[in-house]
Amino acid sequence: MQIITEPAEMQSIAEKLRLNRQLIGVVMTMGALHEGHLSLVKLARQSAGTVILTIFVNPMQFGPAEDLHRYPRPFEQDVALAKSAGVDYLFAPNVSSIYPDRYQTTLLCGDLASRFEGEQRPGHFNGMATVVTKLFNITKPHRAIFGEKDAQQLAIIRQIVADLNLDITVVPAPIVREENGLAVSSRNIYLSSQERNMASVLYKGLCHAEKRITEREKDLLAVAAEVTTMIDSTPGCRTDYVDFVDEERFELAETAREGQEYRLLIAAYCGNVRLIDNIRVQA
Ligand code: AMP
Repeated sequence: MQIITEPAEMQSIAEKLRLNRQLIGVVMTMGALHEGHLSLVKLARQSAGTVILTIFVNPMQFGPAEDLHRYPRPFEQDVALAKSAGVDYLFAPNVSSIYPDRYQTTLLCGDLASRFEGEQRPGHFNGMATVVTKLFNITKPHRAIFGEKDAQQLAIIRQIVADLNLDITVVPAPIVREENGLAVSSRNIYLSSQERNMASVLYKGLCHAEKRITEREKDLLAVAAEVTTMIDSTPGCRTDYVDFVDEERFELAETAREGQEYRLLIAAYCGNVRLIDNIRVQA
């Protein structure tokens, strides 16, 4: 595995790979690699000949009160994990090479980015969209693997690829969970062991909703309210939002229509840690 830090070098390697007719798969992360990230690498290996993993904690997508400076950065451990997962190129640029002095361009997302996470984290998706687009241009992938864990991010990236005519296939990856159902996340290290146990209520809520929809309940607001109660009545946990969206447009859905797919989105605090999770359901 080769470690690259300079965008220009990564770009010229990607260019050569393309000239040699190599199919490039990219997995973009902020590091602190875990089973979720490694499942994306596995998917990339299945759908492309060369796998590039990027590690970049993108300051542009963090709000002033967020955890940019304390975000975990176990680089040596990440290198070892990436290597054993079969990554070919690890691209880990410095902030100054991605945003040099006098950098000034930001991608402005539309309506899709204004709801849910976008409402809670102003500017987050514009920052994410900017760096993802830059990393697309640097790594020149044919396939890009993104986790369903960040369902709204995935929807926005699909929108960017369509809107900007990017010749990239976006491949979604299912959510990897811990034994108690908690979605694996780099931020789970902020949870105490007690909070980690409590946090499994998010998954219980998702399963409850799935069961209710399978039982043909059509009132999505009522089901979301039941899940909200489950979480809010768990000590130390409180919901930020619990909403169904239709899978296609990512817009708030109130009543289920037979055969349609929906996604239940949850954002909730366990202690001081904000967690997100979701599940796709079919009515
Ligand atoms: P992050 O490093 O948190 O920015 O995540 C990088 C990529 O890994 C994103 O596409 C995430 O959606 C994906 N990811 C994070 N956690 C999980 C998980 N538990 N299961 C599947 N994919 C994940």
